[in-house]
Amino acid sequence: MIRATKIDEVKANVREWKKAGLTIGLVPTMGYLHEGHASLIERARRECDKVIVSDFVNPIQFGPKEDLATYPRDFEADCRLCEGLGADLIFHPEPDEMYLDGFHSYVGVDTLSTELCGKSRPIHFNGVCTVVSKLFNITEADKAYFGEKDAQQLAIVKRMVRDLNFNIEIVGCPIIREEDGLAKSSRNTYLNEDERKKALIIHQALTKGEQMVRSGEKDANKVKETVRSIIESEPICRVDYVEIVDWNELQKVDTIDGPILTAVAVYMDEKVRLIDNFIVE
Ligand code: AMP
Repeated sequence: MIRATKIDEVKANVREWKKAGLTIGLVPTMGYLHEGHASLIERARRECDKVIVSDFVNPIQFGPKEDLATYPRDFEADCRLCEGLGADLIFHPEPDEMYLDGFHSYVGVDTLSTELCGKSRPIHFNGVCTVVSKLFNITEADKAYFGEKDAQQLAIVKRMVRDLNFNIEIVGCPIIREEDGLAKSSRNTYLNEDERKKALIIHQALTKGEQMVRSGEKDANKVKETVRSIIESEPICRVDYVEIVDWNELQKVDTIDGPILTAVAVYMDEKVRLIDNFIVE
C-alpha cells in the first residue's frame, strides 16, 4: 500500500491507473478507523480496481469550540487496517498541503445545510464540501463511499455532485453498530465506561421511533417527542436536536408521508456529542 502525504504523489499514481483504464474508489475519512470505515473500504474494494483512503482531520469543518485539537488520531493503526483490507493508497496530508497560504475558495450547499447539524455547526458542511471537492479533484475517483451514519453529509455531498456536475458516483453505505446497537464512531473513545453504557439510550430511542413510523404513525411531532423523552430519561444526556426531515431537501416535516430521515445529536455529560439516525425510504 502506498502512503502518500503530497497531492502530487497521489496525482502521479492516479495518472498511471487511469492510463491503464482502471477504476478508482475513494473513501474519505478523518482517520482513527473502525469497522464503520472498514465497511466502506470493503465495498470500494469489491467495486473498484484501485482504492484510495484519505485520512485527514479537516480543520475547516471544525468550529472554534469543537474538538479539532483532541480528535483521536492513530495513523499507524489506520495504515494496518487499510493494508489488511487491500487498499492501494492512503492519503495523509498535512493541513498546509491541503490549504495553501491565501486559500480563499469554498464550496457549499445551501438549504440542505441549514437544519440538523447545520444549526449547531454553521460552518461544518462548507468545510466538508470543500475538502470533499478537493479530494474528488485530486483522486479523479469514479466512485466515493460515504456512511449513512452522517446522513446529512451524505445527502449534501450527493446534491453537490448533482448540482455541480462532478464526474463521480456517490455510494451510501449502512450504519455499522456495536453489538449492543451503539453506532460506531471515532468519538466513542471519548466516553468512559459508564457514559458508554448510558449512550445506548440513543439507539433504543431511535429504535422505538422507527417502530412507530414503520407501523404507520404519521405525526412527526409525536415520534420526535417519544424519541426525545426516552433520551432525556437518562440524566447525563442533553438533546441538541431530535428532528424529522424529508430525505430529499432535509426540511422539517409535520406529517410523515414520504421518505424521511429522523436524526438526533446528543451531548453526553456536556462533553461528547454523538449523532445517530434512521431513514425510512
Ligand atoms: P469520519 O472519519 O467520521 O469523517 O467518517 C468517514 C466516513 O465513514 C463517513 O462517510 C462516515 O459516514 C463513515 N462512517 C463513520 N462511522 C460509520 C459507521 N458507524 N457506519 C458506517 N459508516 C460510518
